[in-house]
Amino acid sequence: MVMRSPDDWLAILETVPDPEIPVLNVVEMGIVRGVDCTEGGLTVRITPTYMGCPAMDAIADDIRTTLGPFAREESRSLTVELVYSPAWTTDWLDDKAQAKLEAYGIAPPGKTSDKRALNGEAPDIRCPKCKSTETELVSLFGSTACKAHYTCGSCGEPFDHFKCI
Ligand SMILES: [Zn+2]
Repeated sequence: MVMRSPDDWLAILETVPDPEIPVLNVVEMGIVRGVDCTEGGLTVRITPTYMGCPAMDAIADDIRTTLGPFAREESRSLTVELVYSPAWTTDWLDDKAQAKLEAYGIAPPGKTSDKRALNGEAPDIRCPKCKSTETELVSLFGSTACKAHYTCGSCGEPFDHFKCI
């Protein structure tokens, strides 16, 4: 039997959706930091997104459930290791992931390098439906702690904004 390479394991991890944003997988989210194959072992390193995000246990469980049968096939023990440093940032969402978020109806976080954020000004949040920037913050906490709730002043659509960190 041919043993899977770290890239093969990553490809399997791409089938594990983020529990809060099912349109993105855990690799696109930047949660998966790497895969290490050792003699008889397999370690998946993951970084929690937002501090205290309760989804993290669910993500580790999903990874174990998805990779488990494949690891057993190669007689590997599977370890999911949490890595806290460097801290996860929304910058790890690539352009493709940001576009998927917007198509799903969540305003993407943008980049932390946005100069307005440095000046303490809120950057324009674009309505994912009509692309208007005439949006208004309703609540700092949307459907989850990771998101802020907005409404669009142009089309009236309520939407979540994935907070930039
Ligand atoms: Zn709108």
